[in-house]
Amino acid sequence: MTFGLQKCAKVEVIRGKLSRREDIILSDGQIINNLGEERRYRYLGVQQTYEIKQQENKREVEEQMITRVRKILSTQLSAKNKITAINTWAIPAFSYTAGILNWSKTDLERLDRRVRAIFTQHGMLHPNSAIERLYIQRSEGGRGLTSIEITDLKEKNNLKRYFGNETLPLHRLVSAMFDSRTPNAAERAEPETEELEEKWKRNWQTKPLHGRFYTSLHQPEVDMKSSNTYLTQGYLFPQTEGTFLAIQDQVVPTRVYIKHIMKQRVETTKCRLCNQEEESVQHLSSGCSAIAGTKYLSRHNNMGKVVHQLLGLKELLIKNFTPHHLYNPQALLENSDVKIYWDIPIATDQGVEHNRPDLVIWDKKKNEATIIDFAVPFDQNLMKAYKDKTSKYEALARQMKSMWRLQKVEIKPMIISCNGLVHRKTVQHIRELQLPINALCWMQKAVILGTVNIIRQVVYPH
Ligand SMILES: [Zn+2]
Repeated sequence: MTFGLQKCAKVEVIRGKLSRREDIILSDGQIINNLGEERRYRYLGVQQTYEIKQQENKREVEEQMITRVRKILSTQLSAKNKITAINTWAIPAFSYTAGILNWSKTDLERLDRRVRAIFTQHGMLHPNSAIERLYIQRSEGGRGLTSIEITDLKEKNNLKRYFGNETLPLHRLVSAMFDSRTPNAAERAEPETEELEEKWKRNWQTKPLHGRFYTSLHQPEVDMKSSNTYLTQGYLFPQTEGTFLAIQDQVVPTRVYIKHIMKQRVETTKCRLCNQEEESVQHLSSGCSAIAGTKYLSRHNNMGKVVHQLLGLKELLIKNFTPHHLYNPQALLENSDVKIYWDIPIATDQGVEHNRPDLVIWDKKKNEATIIDFAVPFDQNLMKAYKDKTSKYEALARQMKSMWRLQKVEIKPMIISCNGLVHRKTVQHIRELQLPINALCWMQKAVILGTVNIIRQVVYPH
């Protein structure tokens, strides 16, 4: 066995006090020095000598962790990458000390609060947004930040479990020490981390304002996995993610919010754009008549363009991929196999009321056609939007079938709500059209950026 003597040091404790004497000179002439002026050494992240200075250590660990969080948040990383960086680099400054230093519940709450305050300073967390969502996994509609409180619990439970299962006297001794810290047996049974995670979900669900989006997200017709894609892929700018979640949480300072939630005086709660309906965040996101023909239309078209381009590429009607925000569909694409119409009226023998769907695919080989129409409704109107679109084009489908002598004509409405909720049928239709599954991600991105831009321009116009 070889010792790394440069990493060794000597301390002497006489009557409970550190005393400084000669360095040790080994028989081969090598030297083990006294511990340096700081009179302590770091072991697994904790400064110690013959005792652990609790307060001093806690202060240092806290500052170290906070410094790291600040450093990460001032980088150019995306929303998800920042949080991953915090979980893997900042939080461990704390986690080494869990179960070793005496962190009280108040300490843990303060640490979590300080991290959140820095998020707010960087525009990543609206101060009135749902805190719970920060700590819920991204695949479940949260942002996947590790909480200090859970880290502490997890580490303590691991330590207890480890020492509880071992049989050597030393292990037994440590185990008994854990028990003596909490003399009450009932308190000794710490909750498991899963219980705390469930609690966050319950809290989110039951909050009067924030809970609305939870309910929408859990509607039976919502495809949970696709609806959370923007979170699991985490491509948004951190501030955009923060703003978008504030919109979902309905804590955006609309006139209704300012009056009823912030309890401040406003002259009117009527919408500043249409002056007809109440200015709620839902109204601005997808219900205002004043921007239906402009801002909503371009959001809707941006979602449709994604599908148009991918269809064109698949059918070899388009050669090169264009970034989605620069892509402009041609009204008509055609080769010997297939014809694709974009936003042009379909002439019929007997005129039908709705003859201008967003997309029509005429498959000449199979002798069938598909009518596709896009919609970006309120979160709660996914099902209604789907039904409306289907019945809207039934007459046209019948006419096309007889006029073009087709085997069948299918109507495939593609619905993503203004807050990014993807209808199950949208996922199904994308599969049926054999488009890459990324299509959903890009369609959702077009909708989300559209909604964020609308709210930013109206509510934060500077
Ligand atoms: Zn309006």
